[in-house]
Amino acid sequence: MTYDVIVVGLGAMGSAALYHLARRNVRAVGLERFEPGHERGSSHGRTRIIRHGYFEHPSYVPLVRRAAAMWRELETASGRPLMTVTGIVEIGRPDSILVTGTLAAAREHHLLHQVVTAHELMRRYPAFRLPQDNVAVIQPDGGFVEAEAGIRAHLRLAVAAGADIRTGERVVSIEQHGEQVTVRTERASYDAGSVIVAAGPWTASLFPDLALPIQVTRQVLLWVRPGQPELFRPGWFPVFMIESDHGIHYGFPLQDDGLLKVAKHHHAAEVIDPEHHQRLVGADDETLITGPLFRMLPAAAGPVISAKTCLYTMTPDGDFVIDRLPGRERIVLASPCSGHGFKFAPVIGLALADLALNGRTTVDIRRFRLARFS
Ligand SMILES: Cc1cc2nc3c(=O)[nH]c(=O)nc-3n(C[C@H](O)[C@H](O)[C@H](O)COP(=O)(O)OP(=O)(O)OC[C@H]3O[C@@H](n4cnc5c(N)ncnc54)[C@H](O)[C@@H]3O)c2cc1C
Repeated sequence: MTYDVIVVGLGAMGSAALYHLARRNVRAVGLERFEPGHERGSSHGRTRIIRHGYFEHPSYVPLVRRAAAMWRELETASGRPLMTVTGIVEIGRPDSILVTGTLAAAREHHLLHQVVTAHELMRRYPAFRLPQDNVAVIQPDGGFVEAEAGIRAHLRLAVAAGADIRTGERVVSIEQHGEQVTVRTERASYDAGSVIVAAGPWTASLFPDLALPIQVTRQVLLWVRPGQPELFRPGWFPVFMIESDHGIHYGFPLQDDGLLKVAKHHHAAEVIDPEHHQRLVGADDETLITGPLFRMLPAAAGPVISAKTCLYTMTPDGDFVIDRLPGRERIVLASPCSGHGFKFAPVIGLALADLALNGRTTVDIRRFRLARFS
C-alpha cells in the first residue's frame, strides 16, 4: 500500500500529526500497535497540566501560547471541551528551580502572574500546609487538558478528513530508499513519501543503529479520596506544583468522581524497558507520593482508590526531539517528550506535518534538533 505520509504511533503526538496531515488532503495512514488511549505508553490518565510560565525554559512560552489556542480550535472542531482553565500555583523556596524558572519565563514574556507568601497562599487555599519560607507563583491561565479525549478528538477528525487508521499493528522496521520510505509491520508493508515516527517510549527500539540518547522512566499516578474534598472543589481550587526536598509533587482539582489525581514528577527516576516493566503500583510507590504530599497538603490525605504507571521518555537535557533523521530526511522523529510534552501536542502535530510534507516548519523547533547531542 502506498501513502503520502505514514504516522507510526497514535499517542498524543501521532494523533495530532495525523489530524494536521488529513486536513491538508494528504493521503495518510496512522499505524498503532495497541488501541488509541491504551495505558502502556505516556498519554493516559485523563488529564495533563498546561502552564504558561514555563520553568524548564522561557523559550517554551510562545509554543504553549500557540498550543493553548489550538486546543481551543480543536474543541470547536470536535464539539467537546478539552481544556479547563483553573489557574495554577507553583510553590517552593524562592531559590527553587520551580519558582525561579517560572518567574523567569513569566517576566520575560510578560505573563499575568502574582507572587504570594506561603502564609497568603494558605489563607486563600486552606488545603495547603507549607513551610514559612515558601512562596507561590500564581498564574490565572494555567489548567489542564484532557489526555485520552484529546487523542480521540484528533483521530476522529483525522478519519473524517480522510485519514486511515490501523490499530493492533506493530511496526517492525522503517527504511528509506532514495525518495521513498518503506514501513514494515507484523502484517503488511507500506510505502510512503515520508514517515513520522511518534512512537514515544518505543522510539529507540525502531532505530537500533542510531543509539538515540533516550531513557525511559517509570512514573506513577494516584487517585485519592481526600479527607476534606470541599477544599479542592473544581472551579475554585487550582492545579498545583510544589517543589520540596523530596522533589516536585503536583495535583489537580477534584474530579467529577470525587477523587484527586496526584503524582511526583520524575517518580523514582527508574530507567526501564517499555516492553517489560512493573505496571503494578506498590506501597513504596504510594509512599513516594503521599508521604511528602500529605504533609504539605493534609486536606488531601485519604485512601488511594486507583493507581497507574505511565512512562516518561527522557533526553539528557529534558528538551524534546523534533527533527528529520540525518541522512534519512524523509523520516521525521517526534519524541521524546521528556515528561512535559502533552500540552504541546497540537502544535507539535502541526510542525510534524510541515516537516513531513515540506521539510521545514514555521513552528520554532530549533531547540529540539538532534544535532545538539552530537
Ligand atoms: C505520569 C505522566 C504525567 C505527565 N504529565 C504531563 C503534564 O502534566 N503536562 C504535559 O504537558 N505533559 C505531561 N506528560 C508528558 C506527556 O504525557 C507526554 O510527553 C506525551 O503523552 C507523549 O506522547 P507521545 O505521543 O510521544 O507518546 P505515546 O503517547 O506513548 O505514544 C506513542 C505511541 O506509539 C505507539 N507505538 C510505539 N511503538 C510502535 C510500533 N513499533 N508500531 C506501532 N505503534 C507503536 C505506542 O503504542 C503509543 O500509542 C506526562 C507524562 C506522564 C507519563
